[in-house]
Amino acid sequence: MTAKVNTTSKAWKSRPIPFPSLGKPPAWAQASAAEWRDWRWQLRHRLRSPAELRRIFPSWTPAAEDERAAEQFRMAVTPYYAALIRAPEESDPIFRLCVARAEELHDARFHEADPFGEAAHCPLPGIIRRYRDRVLVTATLECAVYCRHCTRKHTVGGQGRRGAADPRRAAAWIAARPEIREALISGGDPLLLSTDRLDRLIGALRRGAPNLDLIRIGTRIPAALPQRVDRALCAMLRRHHPLWMNLHFNHPAELTAEAARACERLADAGIPLGNQAVLLRGVNDDADTLEALFRGLLRMRVRPYYLFQCDPVRGTGHFFTPPERGRALMRELRRRLTGLAIPAYVRDAPDGESKIPL
Ligand SMILES: *Cc1c(COP(=O)(O)O)cnc(C)c1O
Repeated sequence: MTAKVNTTSKAWKSRPIPFPSLGKPPAWAQASAAEWRDWRWQLRHRLRSPAELRRIFPSWTPAAEDERAAEQFRMAVTPYYAALIRAPEESDPIFRLCVARAEELHDARFHEADPFGEAAHCPLPGIIRRYRDRVLVTATLECAVYCRHCTRKHTVGGQGRRGAADPRRAAAWIAARPEIREALISGGDPLLLSTDRLDRLIGALRRGAPNLDLIRIGTRIPAALPQRVDRALCAMLRRHHPLWMNLHFNHPAELTAEAARACERLADAGIPLGNQAVLLRGVNDDADTLEALFRGLLRMRVRPYYLFQCDPVRGTGHFFTPPERGRALMRELRRRLTGLAIPAYVRDAPDGESKIPL
């Protein structure tokens, strides 16, 4: 009746404290240490197709279909994030998370590009409203690293119809609807905006929409491009409290010294940090991996908030994990871990009142 939980295979040892620094791999020997630490250098040198990954794995040859997948669904991997890949193969969790694969083109399980009808809940560019008291504000359609399991994989990367929000128009629209109490700035990744532009967006919402109790930022930057979290960014963000932030770490291999430092800076700026992980087959669908992830996050002062069932978006079927398995994993984790380390296991639903606990 209950799914059996695999607790022995793929044990990913918890990383020691302090988290190990990744360093600059040999493939990037020409880059100076200062360039490696520069987030704009990291962005400019992203790997944009499976073939470009041969820069760090010269003996590997991707299939033509993998290349086609990267044309259909945008791929970009920062040199930093690519350095987390240990081997260019399906069994490597980081490879699975970021490298375009033929499976994305042949999804027999999921058929819809926009299963939650976000396009229909978009009253003006860059605003998605599916709940009464919350709106999602799209800051940009760009990400540092494009997740292969992305719920917006058909729109991110600039190919979609929905653009980024205009700060003043978004604020005026929210102010005209006093029942809205929270703006969730998302995307794309809002921390890819320059510090000044992000300051103007948050400032416009703060000044123009006094009905907002909270502003929340959703970002994968501490995992994908931790160099972006610099002092100037944190100094700006702390002027806009109450500001909350939800991060997106999926695997303990992402918990490096660089990521820990980014989280430390954000937490020191007074921002409560949560994590939204996605349950992904072949990445983190076993108890040892999730335990190491949630324990590591708490050490980085990040509270596990949600564990999402993967959204039924065309091109992500190979990540599907049955909900029975997810429930069995949650039971096992509750046995092993403090309540602080236990996220809510939820799925999104079309026209739901909120996320639905599984
Ligand atoms: C998930 C989501 C939110 C935030 O939901 P919480 O349960 O408050 O984290 C807001 N707007 C949209 C459109 C969402 O999909």
